[in-house]
Amino acid sequence: MSTQFVPPEWAFEFHGHRCPFMPIGYRMGLLAMLELSVEREADHGFFVFPELGEGHPQTCMIDGMQIATGATYGKVLIAKTFYGKLAATFYHPQKGAVRYALLPDFVDAMGKFEFFNYRKKGIEPSQIPGEVVNQVIQWVYEQSDETMFKVEPQPGFTFAPVKGSFNKTKCSVCGEYVFDRYLRMKDGKPVCIPCSGYEKTIKVER
Ligand SMILES: [Zn+2]
Ligand SMILES: [Zn+2]
Repeated sequence: MSTQFVPPEWAFEFHGHRCPFMPIGYRMGLLAMLELSVEREADHGFFVFPELGEGHPQTCMIDGMQIATGATYGKVLIAKTFYGKLAATFYHPQKGAVRYALLPDFVDAMGKFEFFNYRKKGIEPSQIPGEVVNQVIQWVYEQSDETMFKVEPQPGFTFAPVKGSFNKTKCSVCGEYVFDRYLRMKDGKPVCIPCSGYEKTIKVER
């Protein structure tokens, strides 16, 4: 079976450039929704756990997953595992979980396209000639689901989302609101994390 699942034009506008990975993530998301019989998520009931990491171009897949499923970063429905793998698990508390992974043969075949010669030279997708980009995207559309994806139901998968709360308190130092989950106590007074001095421990690794 071949379900091309060509993303709508607004998906490319949201993503910012044309590349093969956003459409792959989009297709992965739609296939997972079909597999689990779920609709695009309006609220907070469908979760995506991409296994991608950082520092590799395939992370564009995650935008496609969000666009397809409605499980967005802003709704806190998506969390990377940082395994550095081209896979994702899709989870609905009532419908179960399924994992999709890109098959190595598909990844190898895609890697032979000229698009990647540009990418390996550090040229960004928006700067690559349109016909070179469209060539690899079109090829992806033409591949069958079976040649692209390994599909594994995850019967034992569970995930407990953080329970929502509107409770907030003003920081005794800066006066800004802090949601109570993130409050710290300093000299017996409620403070936000930056005012508590904890900011010195934040490290962003690249
Ligand atoms: Zn991209
Ligand atoms: Zn503060």
